[in-house]
Amino acid sequence: MPARTSLDARAPRGIPAKAPRDADAALPTRRCVVATGIPARATSAVLASARAAAPLPASLAHVKRARASARTKGTTEVVVKLASEGASASARGDAESDAAVRADVLERHADVIASVVYADVPAEGPEDRETWEKACAIWPVSLTAPAERETETPSDEEAAYFRKWTKQACEGAKMSGNCAIIVDPARDVEIARGVDESATHPLRHAVIAAVDLAAKRDVAMYPEKEHVEALIEARRMEKLERDALEIAGVGDDAKKRKREVQTKGSAMTEIMGRPYLCTGYDVFLAREPCIMCAMGLVHSRLKRVVFAVCDNINGALSGPSGIRRLHGVRSLNHHYSVFSFDAEEI
Ligand SMILES: [Zn+2]
Repeated sequence: MPARTSLDARAPRGIPAKAPRDADAALPTRRCVVATGIPARATSAVLASARAAAPLPASLAHVKRARASARTKGTTEVVVKLASEGASASARGDAESDAAVRADVLERHADVIASVVYADVPAEGPEDRETWEKACAIWPVSLTAPAERETETPSDEEAAYFRKWTKQACEGAKMSGNCAIIVDPARDVEIARGVDESATHPLRHAVIAAVDLAAKRDVAMYPEKEHVEALIEARRMEKLERDALEIAGVGDDAKKRKREVQTKGSAMTEIMGRPYLCTGYDVFLAREPCIMCAMGLVHSRLKRVVFAVCDNINGALSGPSGIRRLHGVRSLNHHYSVFSFDAEEI
């Protein structure tokens, strides 16, 4: 392993939760069923019916459901519904397979709809003007607000703090390949440190070793047995409440309440009288963590993840969107910020 590093000359950069798009790449699209040839005066009525019969998913909130026809002047085209997943003989057949669409859109407005065709719409809301223009060439969309948690630029003070601990992680990685140091930023002190031990156990990566040590430290610092018993009781009550809701029936309201019960889990923090695992701590690594380790850091509630070197093959934080950029996966219950130093070698 190369053992030279100079992070002094480098500035840490935030890795946004969403991977930048290749400017030349085609925008992803979703196929829709579209009614065409609608006289302008009838557009709002068809639009209202389509909205009621087949609302588009929230992920397509940027899509405008009507546009002026480029082919026939004075007419419009309306998105009737999202195309069905399976193969359909025709767009009309696809639309008719949905009873509400057939009755409330196609039959009700049969006199004003000239034809029913498939058309693609941009699958993602554009966050900048250039992408918006490209998207609108496919189908009209609105410009969406940039995703929360945009790239954060660390202050000079933060950059120095990042650099100091990342250098230590690089030093620590010289023998094993990777090193993870968990740090309390409020006190600038090391909480736990782990190096890659996968030679002795295949899952014992540096992050896992560090998180394991931090957990052991927690247990040693807060040994109270009654806290554990209170925790078990709280979990038991939560389960009873969840089961009761499930028996009571489904539906949005029940689902919402079920979620509320589940989020009460954070109340366990209060019972335990201390933060949950690594809440509020930062972790510094020589190399970008793999998917297992990045997920371990989510579970441990780390606040920031800083590493020196990107791992283009196994890394889980600097790749394209999805599990290769785990901090951008919205469905996860915790999100940390990610920074790297762009160092080629350590
Ligand atoms: Zn790993």
